Amino acid sequence: MASKPHVVIIGAGFAGVHAARRLKKVPVSITVVDRGTSHLFQPLLYQCATGVLSEGAITSPIRHLLRRQRNVNVVLGEADDIDVAAKVLTVLGADGSPAQISYDYLVVGTGMRTAYHGCDDAIENSIGMKTLDDALAIRRQVLGAFEIAETLTDPEERRKWLTFAVAGAGPTGVEIAGQIRELATLALGREFDSIDPTEARVLLFHGADRILPSFTESLSKKAQRTLDRIGVETHLGVHVVDVGEDTVTTKDKKTDETTTYKARTTLWTAGVEAVPFARTLAKALGVEADRSGRIPVRDDLSVEGHPEVFVAGDTSSLNKLPGVAEVAMQGGRHVGGVIADLVAGQSERKPFKYHDLGNAAYIARRNAIVQSGPLEMSGTLGWLAWGVIHVAFLAGVRNRMGALVTWSATLITGTRSERAITYGDPRRAHQPYPDE
Ligand SMILES: Cc1cc2nc3c(=O)[nH]c(=O)nc-3n(C[C@H](O)[C@H](O)[C@H](O)COP(=O)(O)OP(=O)(O)OC[C@H]3O[C@@H](n4cnc5c(N)ncnc54)[C@H](O)[C@@H]3O)c2cc1C
Repeated sequence: MASKPHVVIIGAGFAGVHAARRLKKVPVSITVVDRGTSHLFQPLLYQCATGVLSEGAITSPIRHLLRRQRNVNVVLGEADDIDVAAKVLTVLGADGSPAQISYDYLVVGTGMRTAYHGCDDAIENSIGMKTLDDALAIRRQVLGAFEIAETLTDPEERRKWLTFAVAGAGPTGVEIAGQIRELATLALGREFDSIDPTEARVLLFHGADRILPSFTESLSKKAQRTLDRIGVETHLGVHVVDVGEDTVTTKDKKTDETTTYKARTTLWTAGVEAVPFARTLAKALGVEADRSGRIPVRDDLSVEGHPEVFVAGDTSSLNKLPGVAEVAMQGGRHVGGVIADLVAGQSERKPFKYHDLGNAAYIARRNAIVQSGPLEMSGTLGWLAWGVIHVAFLAGVRNRMGALVTWSATLITGTRSERAITYGDPRRAHQPYPDE
């Protein structure tokens, strides 16, 4: 009996998981490869970073998510190299050792990483906002900054620790900037003795002439008013050009004038680029990736000249579709559908048609904006719609219920429970006693 076609899916993000699920009842064997053990719900990363939700609340173990799917095998490892002629993928396992995996169909959904656009100092001195590690590093840095400021007597040093800079005012930058102000004013406001956390400054820098350019001008203006009200200081028409250990320098796009601010914390949300494997893959496939490393695909999401290789989600460039979760989910399902048709002997491939369901961004407590076609919502109504959308798309019933309970508690009490920060190295607890 002929063996079932082997589908290898790289990346258990939105695209990868939805491709795997679409293939549930299809006679194929599937290997899902991810460098992490969990599927991450990136749209709520900023809530994990600022102590609202735990890391468990915004992730789901990949094995658990796909546990009922008999035809799936999950591998923890990082796709590192590929031989497209032999259809063999090289994966580095958790211990760094390479393993070869053959495929009949390959689905690539490896997503993006933070891009620094040549601002090399920012790699060293700022924190991006793309992974769970980023969120936990931000939590440690932001909460630690208040603790350090509390111990300082020099007002200028204190001010530096209590100043938080955010580069980029797309949804991620706006959300994290608003959350840091609300953390300072609502959650930490009364808990310190020598500092007043409500004096914390949040500086938001953006190159365009308005925040949230992916939303309509009227929603962007409403969001700006909310940020102004809660005390986020927005600077438009500037690029962050340098990030030092305790400084951030911007350049005005029109006048070229530079300004340096003292800030111990800079968060970088000003761009994304494909992960390194996507570059390796593009080269192996002989196609030219775009400036951000996205791989060009045909209308069925397969790669020109390689009908067995599909790219979905943020890593693929098709008609300039936005890098949002809905594109990745629909793309993943589409690829699963095309493979199912091919396995069933149908050679005609359907083109991918994206159904735009809209866009949402959280601005502040009881305040979010939602745009869906001609429909626009803001304020409390927008916030309710935002809540429904995010709960609906969170993976797993437990995470959905957990988020609802935590949000209600945060709303009623103003406090945040996920504020544990660690020192990083557990071996420090076992240093010898001083007189040994
Ligand atoms: C902070 C933040 C907020 C966002 N907010 C929203 C929002 O409100 N609404 C919205 O629609 N979209 C939002 N997005 C965008 C959305 O999350 C992405 O568009 C979506 O995650 C893309 O899905 P994907 O499957 O292409 O990639 P991802 O979800 O990024 O998944 C990629 C997977 O590939 C794995 N991977 C990467 N490289 C390798 C490798 N070499 N080998 C093995 N595995 C690998 C990763 O571990 C990851 O699991 C947000 C993104 C961020 C970062």
